Amino acid sequence: MTTTTAPRLQGAPRRPAPSTPGWWRSSTKDALAVSLLLVTVLWAVPHGVADLGGGASAALTSLGRLTGLVASDLLLVQVLLMARVPAIERAWGQDELARLHRLVGFGSFTLMLAHIGLVGLGYAGADGRGYAGVLGELWSETWDLAGMLLAVAGMLCLVMVVVTSVRKARAKLRYESWHLLHLYAYLGVGLALPHQLWTGADFLANPLATAYWWTAWAGTAACVVVFRLGLPLYRTLRHRLVVSAVVPEAPGVWSVHLSGRHLEELPARAGQFLQFRFLDGPGASRSHPYSLSAAPTSTLLRITVKDLGDGSRQVAWLRPGTRVLVEGPYGRMTAERRQGRKVLLLGAGIGITPLRALAEELPQGPGDVVVVHRVRSLDEAVFRGELEHLEQTRGLRAVLVPGPRASDDSWAPVGSGTDGAAALRALVPDVADRDVFVCGPDPWMDAALSAARQAGVPADRLHAERFTW
Ligand SMILES: Cc1cc2nc3c(=O)[nH]c(=O)nc-3n(C[C@H](O)[C@H](O)[C@H](O)COP(=O)(O)OP(=O)(O)OC[C@H]3O[C@@H](n4cnc5c(N)ncnc54)[C@H](O)[C@@H]3O)c2cc1C
Repeated sequence: MTTTTAPRLQGAPRRPAPSTPGWWRSSTKDALAVSLLLVTVLWAVPHGVADLGGGASAALTSLGRLTGLVASDLLLVQVLLMARVPAIERAWGQDELARLHRLVGFGSFTLMLAHIGLVGLGYAGADGRGYAGVLGELWSETWDLAGMLLAVAGMLCLVMVVVTSVRKARAKLRYESWHLLHLYAYLGVGLALPHQLWTGADFLANPLATAYWWTAWAGTAACVVVFRLGLPLYRTLRHRLVVSAVVPEAPGVWSVHLSGRHLEELPARAGQFLQFRFLDGPGASRSHPYSLSAAPTSTLLRITVKDLGDGSRQVAWLRPGTRVLVEGPYGRMTAERRQGRKVLLLGAGIGITPLRALAEELPQGPGDVVVVHRVRSLDEAVFRGELEHLEQTRGLRAVLVPGPRASDDSWAPVGSGTDGAAALRALVPDVADRDVFVCGPDPWMDAALSAARQAGVPADRLHAERFTW
């Protein structure tokens, strides 16, 4: 194991990170509604609505077109949600975006199946095959219409992605395998385009429709290229991050110190995370998300990693000088989210990492910031010395709460009673007047968020980032 003395985290002041105005979140929802409305109008106005009255076959085909168009629109939204567009990331957070992406994905897939069925039925009726001949009709369309073979291949990719994303199937796959299969979604989306372009009557129906669809496809592709590939590549080359030290913090937990150039330009804030690839051999193809565990400086970043599998275990063996590829920063659990001066940072286990960084970055007077760290045993209590230092120098209050959980739906340890809100109030009597930042394992977070709500913390003062997507 490589260990060296921890360098002090210091450096020149950093440029403030860009912030996202509160209205941006609702605007992204409005943009989605507008795009769906526009797609529907572009279908309805030329002949979509009129065709509904043109007999059963014409109506089925017309509805098939509508479902196909909405499915395409949602497919692009799905890709856009995961394109790491900074303003969207900051407004929603990657955990919420992943959930939305999943929801939109299943919606788009269902509509795509409806599209195939409805168009097949409509064409079979119009061609005189009768509705029972729908399979024969789909078979002929696949071979006869331009772009249809590619669309079928794309559809098969998407079927694979959807099947492997159903919770039960996903739980059986290794994360790496699931993620690799998931990348086939890009191929699926790409293969669907020629079919819409060459045979989509609504795509070609009028210049406005053509302009809309070209803008939507090209804009989405540009976002993926710029934000998923270009920006990470630029930041990796610009900042040239390398491992400068690996420091053991507790059994199975290490801090990795990273140094680089021009880090004052990296818009990273305490509370955020980045995706890291350590270029030290076989595991380098896979990125892992880790939160900053100290406020970033112009020369140093620090992450703290718990051994939870083969990728996270690998950090113990990192050598100083190892090059690091980064994507990000991502996440919105930053100091700018707090609405009042008083804050509770409530973390469990390794979920303390972003909160430790926030504890350092938040401007505060005595008693303004309280850190509650839930651990199963004292072995897990990382950063005790650092939090004590912040208590002495900044007036922060740190409370360590050890012990196994009282029950599955409790955030608190055995012996603290059954009322999670009361247990929280007992530790932090003015919790209802504070912004509460929560981070930890998924089920524990649900219990902690619910206790905070019951203790009177308003929903807009609760801030959370999950370590699982
Ligand atoms: C936003 C965020 C911030 C995080 N911050 C920290 C941190 O500061 N310190 C820390 O110790 N851990 C953190 N984690 C968890 C850490 O990313 C995983 O423990 C690590 O990636 C596990 O990889 P593995 O190969 O060791 O384990 P595996 O056995 O491969 O995976 C264990 C579990 O970790 C999750 N996971 C694995 N790889 C990834 C990935 N590339 N992306 C997302 N989830 C993955 C999966 O749910 C998987 O079931 C964070 C996770 C997220 C999503």
